[in-house]
Amino acid sequence: MLTLIENAEVFGPEPLGSKNLLIGGGQILAVDAGLDPIGLPLVRVDGSGMLLVPGFVDSLVHISGGGGEGGFTSRTRPLQARDALRAGVTTVIGALGTDDVTRSHADLLACAYALREQGLAAWVLSGSYHLPLRTVTGSLRDDLVLIEAVIGVGEIAIADHRGSQPNAAELARVAAEAGVAGLLAGKRGTVLVHLGDQPEGLALLWQCRRQYRIHPSRWLPTHMNRQRALLDQAADWLAAGGAVDLTASTTEAMLSDGEVDAGLALAELLALPQGAGRITISSDGQASLPQFDAEGRLTSIGVATMDSLLAAVQRAVLGHRVPLPLALDAVTATPARLWGLAGKGRIAVGADADLLLLDRDTLAVRQVYSAGQARL
Ligand code: ZN
Repeated sequence: MLTLIENAEVFGPEPLGSKNLLIGGGQILAVDAGLDPIGLPLVRVDGSGMLLVPGFVDSLVHISGGGGEGGFTSRTRPLQARDALRAGVTTVIGALGTDDVTRSHADLLACAYALREQGLAAWVLSGSYHLPLRTVTGSLRDDLVLIEAVIGVGEIAIADHRGSQPNAAELARVAAEAGVAGLLAGKRGTVLVHLGDQPEGLALLWQCRRQYRIHPSRWLPTHMNRQRALLDQAADWLAAGGAVDLTASTTEAMLSDGEVDAGLALAELLALPQGAGRITISSDGQASLPQFDAEGRLTSIGVATMDSLLAAVQRAVLGHRVPLPLALDAVTATPARLWGLAGKGRIAVGADADLLLLDRDTLAVRQVYSAGQARL
């Protein structure tokens, strides 16, 4: 069945004006101002007064559940497709985190395939917080080359007491191996790096550049807004050709502990000359949100939600005056490009019909299309 979405103001994420969109077979078939195919059976959707934007691409979701840092009862549950779709997320990149003992890549892949069956686009990362890497096949190269759904590595933890305290040589080897496997498989093989609270921040990644010629674009450092001092390191990283990921989910305690709200952090980074097209925001959905005291003891724990991503975009645009196309870019076109997901994160003829109708004033989600199907 074909669907014609009429008279919405389209951001692809760049402003395209008021357009009609014809979708069918899971793809965008035509984008035109006066488009009205005669004689075709159509579902017509009135988009008047609404914004039509690409479905969000979320670079870090613990789709098989995360947590566990407060004992077994603190393990979080797997992602439900409806929780992502309701929040405007149509593509997720699934990863393991701290717990790679009770969580496995087999389970991660099964969760991704289940999400696909429910209309969500889903890929996964090999590896976890720790080195040596946990993988599916025993080899990172084999994972990336032979398993379609594996598109990168991570999140590997640095500057964090929960990580395996890798050195630059170990990290560089992972990036090099992912790069080679990416070439063989036609993937980008991006390495997602979890940044913890320790003051060295990106130092190891800079060392990888100096000593092993690993270009900053091989990595996507995440949680860059978790501390003001870490966010301050983003300027030099962007200037050197790197990209950064901001984390949308947070708690009041984390904010008062020094985290910078993702909407505000986006506004600040976009003011830098190299900011545009290099910044992504992810939800860290289904992660636990643990608080530790000075001695590393867990003091409280929460769960990160998928709707944090949309809320961050809303705060950036409505609260911090970030232009809508730039805020959208950080959750659509840029993450799709950084992960090498052709067809995702943009509105254009031939792209996948993953789309959101948003309220023009509040940016609330009114309808979600994934693979061309209305989901709400
Ligand atoms: Zn993390």
